[in-house]
Amino acid sequence: MPKKKINLLIVDDEEQFLKSMTKWLEVRGFNVIPVDRGEKAIEAARTQPIDIALVDLKMPGIDGEQTLKSLKEEHPWMEVVILTGHGSVDSAVECTKIGACSYLQKPCELDRLLSVLTDAYKKKVMNKMNIKEHRMDELLEVSQYGSPTAILEKIRELDQEEQA
Ligand SMILES: [Mg+2]
Repeated sequence: MPKKKINLLIVDDEEQFLKSMTKWLEVRGFNVIPVDRGEKAIEAARTQPIDIALVDLKMPGIDGEQTLKSLKEEHPWMEVVILTGHGSVDSAVECTKIGACSYLQKPCELDRLLSVLTDAYKKKVMNKMNIKEHRMDELLEVSQYGSPTAILEKIRELDQEEQA
């Protein structure tokens, strides 16, 4: 089986930044999905499983905060990292409250970015396993009353669920 790449969604309205970031991260083995608007990011995440999103704050249309909020609501396992040129303590607090796992300021050292993305991915995988473990426990509780084929089918569903 081919190794699955980490799907990384990048949202930034600065075209040059988006291009160079995409190249830099692709070389490091990420499957990068670059988009230049929050609306497109939300759309892209609906059509393919995203592991991590790297989100700019100031963009035309819906801003980074709203994008973060929608992404987390629709895909609780996805981890979102904010990378902004217009950072502030207030906005960092707000984004963390909404569910961002990290908040970085531009210009950001690339090694630092890579380590933050690695942590984000680790968190995503752990969250997913915890949720599955929890669901499996529930399932096993229910299974005393269900038929064996129904239980088998439920476990199979759990195993084959989307990664998003
Ligand atoms: Mg911007």
